[in-house]
Amino acid sequence: MNLIFLGPPGAGKGTHASKLSQQLSIPQISTGDMLRSALREQTTLGLEAKKFMDAGELVPDGVIIGMVKERLKAPDARKGYIFDGFPRTAAQAEALGAFAKIDVVLNLMVSDEVIIRRLSGRRVCPACNGTFHITFLKDEKVCPTCGAALIQRKDDEPETILNRLSVYRRQTEPLINYYQQQGLLRSVDGEGFVDDNYTAILTALDIK
Ligand code: AMP
Repeated sequence: MNLIFLGPPGAGKGTHASKLSQQLSIPQISTGDMLRSALREQTTLGLEAKKFMDAGELVPDGVIIGMVKERLKAPDARKGYIFDGFPRTAAQAEALGAFAKIDVVLNLMVSDEVIIRRLSGRRVCPACNGTFHITFLKDEKVCPTCGAALIQRKDDEPETILNRLSVYRRQTEPLINYYQQQGLLRSVDGEGFVDDNYTAILTALDIK
């Protein structure tokens, strides 16, 4: 099954895509994770992407499309995949349509208010890649999984969050209509409890 997880930043795309990827044994392809890993490795692509990411802007389409095209050549993508954070523009969606066949686009619906609360309290672990929210942490500076020091993503700082949201509404939200017209869209509430949302996702995808 070839899936796209669509939704604003902080909708839970990464969390749910990761769980579903394990359940279905297909890779989660997160363009955000790929860019962050390129940045950690200080590649030209990573360094080029950094200024856009830090400002909450989108990395240019050509860079993203090339990166995804390469990624789909890997053997693990043969049985299916879950795109998380891609496509994010009409140009990316159109390019994707030319080299992949998407089965379902799952749209996670979350209000701006909930997104701002989630992202501003999000902390990540640079050591084990875990993502947490300060509400559920005993010590908001320490990773509960591996004990490393947690950090706040630069693009989760308040003014960048607002920009990411407006970029989403302007450039990515129109894809809901695009995929609706292709008959591929299934929308699910992304605001409730994580487990309930995941169950709703499985139902929407007809997975028992
Ligand atoms: P994410 O982790 O998905 O929220 O992505 C973090 C940042 O990486 C975004 O704010 C963008 O700057 C960049 N990015 C990730 N995916 C894309 C994409 N499909 N198109 C353009 N920029 C992207």
